[in-house]
Amino acid sequence: MNKVRTLIVGAGISGLALAKALADRGFPVDVVERRADDGQAPGAGLYLPANAVRALQGIGVGDELAKRAEPVTRQRLQDHRGRPLTEFGVGHIWGEVGPCLAVTRGDLHEVLRTAVAGTVVRYDTEVRSVTDDGTVTFGDGTTGAYDLVVGADGINSAVRRSLFGGPEPRFLGQLCWRFIADDTAIPGITDWTARLGARGRTFLTVQLGAGRVYCYADINSPVPATPAGDWRTLFADFGGPVPQLLEQGADAHFAALHESENTVWTRARAVLVGDAAHAFSPSMAQGGAMALEDALVLADTLGTEPDVTDALAAFQARRAGRVAWVVAQNHRRDKARNLPTPLRNLTLRRAGERLFKANHAPLHALP
Ligand SMILES: Cc1cc2nc3c(=O)[nH]c(=O)nc-3n(C[C@H](O)[C@H](O)[C@H](O)COP(=O)(O)OP(=O)(O)OC[C@H]3O[C@@H](n4cnc5c(N)ncnc54)[C@H](O)[C@@H]3O)c2cc1C
Repeated sequence: MNKVRTLIVGAGISGLALAKALADRGFPVDVVERRADDGQAPGAGLYLPANAVRALQGIGVGDELAKRAEPVTRQRLQDHRGRPLTEFGVGHIWGEVGPCLAVTRGDLHEVLRTAVAGTVVRYDTEVRSVTDDGTVTFGDGTTGAYDLVVGADGINSAVRRSLFGGPEPRFLGQLCWRFIADDTAIPGITDWTARLGARGRTFLTVQLGAGRVYCYADINSPVPATPAGDWRTLFADFGGPVPQLLEQGADAHFAALHESENTVWTRARAVLVGDAAHAFSPSMAQGGAMALEDALVLADTLGTEPDVTDALAAFQARRAGRVAWVVAQNHRRDKARNLPTPLRNLTLRRAGERLFKANHAPLHALP
């Protein structure tokens, strides 16, 4: 295929990964990002399951990532007081796929940014709309013409809204808070530990190394708005290290969790990747992995198919089943969090590892 002139809208995980993968294949790529170039990546930490780490290795940033990330070797599920429900090595879940890692969002972003240093990323540049002939209108009213426009612009994608229609993202009935805490004075926090309370409450810790731990807390809620009062009181009955960690959570990032339900991600000259295509609940921590796999697969199909039409059709076909699997597993897990506590605990004690294994088995295959 002639090297199509491509605009990537959004310099998040999927946009930067795609920019790197396309630049490596010789495609001329522009990237625009509405945020300022202040080196800040929004959010706190990320758990990167083995298929996400494999995808990052696939785009050539595995070594740089390993320098900044912390290995996660075990996953533990406990009740809200810290009594064990199940525990297993991640190798039992992922087999030969590779290691699982934890990293700050800032560090992952920096690794990807450094990797695309040869590509111009225009910050402070918002895309307002796109038309089917590849004409893009920017926030300042100027326009550009492209062979291909990639919406890597997250769950509220302007590219999706312009071209794909479809339903608005759906509120999942969950609210969450995220922050990074200093755990140098809190011994015993290792790897990945989820503490499960009644009424769908979860407090997850993921060790980031260097005395830092990523904390993620969520609750069920009928409305997508932060509850009145200090959110930390919602976890006042949690034991173990949670009370000490919560002391550091006053400025946590708040989010109401949504999923996007559109399943068509391609038009004649446009394609959606990452959260713009398929944002979902973080319960399997597969958002980053799916965004990175999208980038690799799209670069591959653009590099090997005879024209853009075939490349986009091949992309949709290769990604649909895998993403649908993750969405379905997330829905099953989200239902399970609302089981009566004794039944949920019994299920995890008896079958936790087997369920985790089954959730992830199809993701062992290359995307
Ligand atoms: C609470 C929570 C916890 C999560 N935890 C994990 C985890 O542990 N592990 C994991 O793998 N995943 C996790 N995820 C999912 C993960 O964060 C996302 O799947 C991932 O960030 C998607 O990357 P993206 O590049 O597609 O979108 P984004 O990261 O949203 O990036 C989109 C970019 O586009 C820019 N943009 C938006 N609109 C425009 C526009 N009109 N013009 C120009 N630029 C624009 C934005 O500023 C942004 O930089 C979590 C998600 C949530 C909500």
